[in-house]
Amino acid sequence: VKKKASRYEKQARKVSQAAVLGAGIMGGGIAYQSASKGTPILMKDIKEEAIELGLKEARKLFAKQVERGKLTTQQMAERLSNIRPTLSYGDFGHVDLVVEAVVENPKVKDAVLSEVEGLVSDDTILTSNTSTISITRLAQNLKRPENFCGMHFFNPVHRMPLVEVIRGEKTGDAAVAATVAYARAMGKTPIVVNDCPGFLVNRVLFPYFGGFNSLLEQGADFQRIDKVMEKFGWPMGPAYLLDVVGMDTAVHANEVMAEGFPDRMAQEGKSAIQVMVDNDRLGQKNAKGFYAYE
Ligand code: NAD
Repeated sequence: VKKKASRYEKQARKVSQAAVLGAGIMGGGIAYQSASKGTPILMKDIKEEAIELGLKEARKLFAKQVERGKLTTQQMAERLSNIRPTLSYGDFGHVDLVVEAVVENPKVKDAVLSEVEGLVSDDTILTSNTSTISITRLAQNLKRPENFCGMHFFNPVHRMPLVEVIRGEKTGDAAVAATVAYARAMGKTPIVVNDCPGFLVNRVLFPYFGGFNSLLEQGADFQRIDKVMEKFGWPMGPAYLLDVVGMDTAVHANEVMAEGFPDRMAQEGKSAIQVMVDNDRLGQKNAKGFYAYE
């Protein structure tokens, strides 16, 4: 897989200025990672509070590195200044690559991607951090689909090495090459994968969540399932993982998977995870999910 990614790198355009749309769990993490490895990044959201939260998280992560003696306070200030928070598209004309990381809703993503495409220069690479939505499907409304591909990070971004770079039907080599190179510049391990709902990792992960969900519906105790999966050797069980992912994001992603693979992924009635959303238990993002957080 590494070989395949490096094939693209030879012709890669360097990303000197990046931008991320959405300052949530993922957008904030992507901004931190880019800034930390030296690529300046604009972080845009529609909500001031989201930007504040994204910056707070980045500050916390940099401060930990200072505590551990890995960064000086001067270096922390420099790296932090690589993140430019914004509520407007003002400086998007000079951006080499955009990562869209807004909510997992195809309609919202369509609107945001079309809007940003009209504001960036003709050769800017647009990418989406969607967990599940087909890249070919998201490219449908774009004028320059050859400049668009998936750039799928995992949560938490600063700890998870893998990035899926997804080739849609119309994605060009230059977009894949620039995205692979940017992922590497961020210290990540990119793999280039073909397009389908869920790509590679979530095609494996979401059926696993489905299995967890049906155990819950049959009365199983989520804490026991987590403990067993940890003993099995996984770093965390499915309930804790869903708290990290965000219950709302998991429900949206599961809908896309069910649409793509109705025979395997469709679920009758309300899932246990949907019940969690209905009860405002979104996970770590609002401090209450399967577990409670400070
Ligand atoms: P989130 O709910 O934490 O954040 C989404 C952010 O998007 C919010 O801050 C919201 O204000 C902002 N937003 C909404 N509309 C916007 C717009 N028009 N312009 C700019 N910002 C806008 O969600 P998240 O977990 O960060 O997920 C974001 C994307 O990343 C989704 O597509 C999700 O599927 C994907 N993803 C999530 C995970 C995960 O574990 N949470 C992992 C990989 C990929």
